[in-house]
This record gives sequence, structure tokens and C-alpha cells, in this order.
Amino acid sequence: MHQIPDTSVQARFANGFARAIELICPGCNTKAMFEARPWQEHGGQVVATEMTCTRCGRPVLLVQLIDDFNNCKPETLFTYPAPGGRDCMTGVQHLQALSGPLARTYDSAVKLYNHAEWGPTALTVRHLLEGLCARLLPAEKRDLPLPRQLETLPRDIDLTRPLQDISHLMAPDGAFGRQFEDEAAIDKVTAENLLELAEQLIHYLVVLPGELAELKSRIATAPVPLRRGGSVG
Ligand SMILES: [Zn+2]
Repeated sequence: MHQIPDTSVQARFANGFARAIELICPGCNTKAMFEARPWQEHGGQVVATEMTCTRCGRPVLLVQLIDDFNNCKPETLFTYPAPGGRDCMTGVQHLQALSGPLARTYDSAVKLYNHAEWGPTALTVRHLLEGLCARLLPAEKRDLPLPRQLETLPRDIDLTRPLQDISHLMAPDGAFGRQFEDEAAIDKVTAENLLELAEQLIHYLVVLPGELAELKSRIATAPVPLRRGGSVG
């Protein structure tokens, strides 16, 4: 189930339940209006219905939580399958901390994507990558073309820095190392922090390289789109 914001609802039935919802259709990948059939209550806690894309007819399941008075609970509208749009990445607050303008550019790219504006999305992403390189690279390299900037990035940024403090934490006199002396005294907060440390490390060392490799192979095997109006063959 995918939660969709109440602001996506464009029209409601007299009882307050959604009647028309604008979403990126998971079937035709365009921003489209969905029209809901009459809702049915289940167990006094949810109402459910089906809605269909007015462009391609694709059906989507719709579920809404209700309160004791049969009113919609705010922000509890769910669809299955998920609409075609994207949520912002987790950890976007760190991008905001690095650079407000870069975070806004990223936000624009996601918004354009969620409006099915594919070309402007791609141009904004390119602008984002250029801004990111300019922010992270030394001044003398900021005028290089983007591919050269990306090439030089791993040499100019200290990629080992996120890993450097971990050994100190785990050393016998480190914050975590000390705690292993008395396993029974380890509390929930320590266990949680340690688990999160391991997850971050796995993400950096294993998940990121794995997902980039998968993305590269998807890009390599994607069909090349025909240029509109161009000659074929
Ligand atoms: Zn559709």
C-alpha cells in the first residue's frame, strides 16, 4: 500500500470520500485523473474501492482509514499498486545542510518527475550533478566539463572519512568497545546505535556499489529510444 497525499484528491463524494484523484498512472505513466467507484466499509475502520485511469482504464485499489464517525482520517489514503511518481530520497536533509540551492534543485527534479515532465527532469538532474560537483570540487576544477568533474571527484574527496571514526568506537576504550566488557548492561539505545552503525557501514561498502552496478547494467541494456521525427534504419 502506498500513501498518497490528501492534496491529490480533486473531487469528493457528498460523504467526503475521494471521487477523483490525480496521480501518475502506473499503467500509462502519464499524469492522469482517476475516478473512484462508490466506497464500501469494512470492519468499521476502513473503506475501500477501486478507481480507474481515465486515459488507459488501468484499475487501482484505493483504501481509506475512517474515524468513529465514518469521516476520513487525514492523510490515510492508500493505493495499490503505487502510483508512478517518486518520493524524495531518505537523508535529503543532509543535502539541504550541504547546500540549500542544491536541495531545491533536487526537489524540483522530483516534482518535475512527478508531473511526468521527463525532459525537464533530466535537464534538472544534470544541473543538480553540475552543482554537486561545483560544491564538492576545489575551485580550479569547477570549470571542467561535467564528465571530467565526475571523473576527478573520487580523487578530490576523502571517501574514507566516513569510515575513519568507526575503528575508534569499536576499540576496547572506545564508546562501543567499553560496553562489550559487560554484555548484560548494554541497553536498547546502545544496541540500536550499534545496529545503525553496522547498517550504515553495509550501506556504504556493500549496498551502494551493488545498486550502482545494477543501475549501470539496467542503463546498458535499456532500449535506445528512437528520435522523434528522425529517419529510421
Ligand atoms: Zn493510465
